[in-house]
Amino acid sequence: MVSIEEVAARNGLVLYPTSRPGQWKAHCPVCGDQGRNFHLYVSSVKDTFYCHKCGEKGGAVAFHAWLRGISFEAAKAELYPQGTRKRNLHPAERLTAAQLAELGFTTRKPWRMPKGVDPLAWRRQRKAMLDWIWEEYQGHERFKREQTERLMRLLTNAHESTCEQPTGA
Ligand SMILES: [Zn+2]
Repeated sequence: MVSIEEVAARNGLVLYPTSRPGQWKAHCPVCGDQGRNFHLYVSSVKDTFYCHKCGEKGGAVAFHAWLRGISFEAAKAELYPQGTRKRNLHPAERLTAAQLAELGFTTRKPWRMPKGVDPLAWRRQRKAMLDWIWEEYQGHERFKREQTERLMRLLTNAHESTCEQPTGA
């Protein structure tokens, strides 16, 4: 979770302490209040913001969207990039069910931890399994490519030999 304070910091919005702990005041970037005038209130207890003048309010994501001038969805994507988890995946984990089935795996995700297994031992085993699956897959792909090439050669040869024959009109 990205806190509302962090959102403020990321957007260069200065938060000033109030008499209440966890409650901050700031200058609303829309209303243009200055000096000792503070319209914007930010609660790091509830992770919400509220401007008493323009009425803008919401949570951390809405705050980021508002400060950056982008949509809620875009703000969410910026604060919680989905790519980070996917990038850490082993290439074998990205194989589809169909690709796994080609290798002879009947279970959808063979690297899922079975029940009652020591997690540490499983982690090591899992890595070895993923490496092995990936190697198998690459070998399988190479084999398929070679088979296709061979087939294409056969077809081309057959095609050429039929073309070479004089066509009796
Ligand atoms: Zn305002």
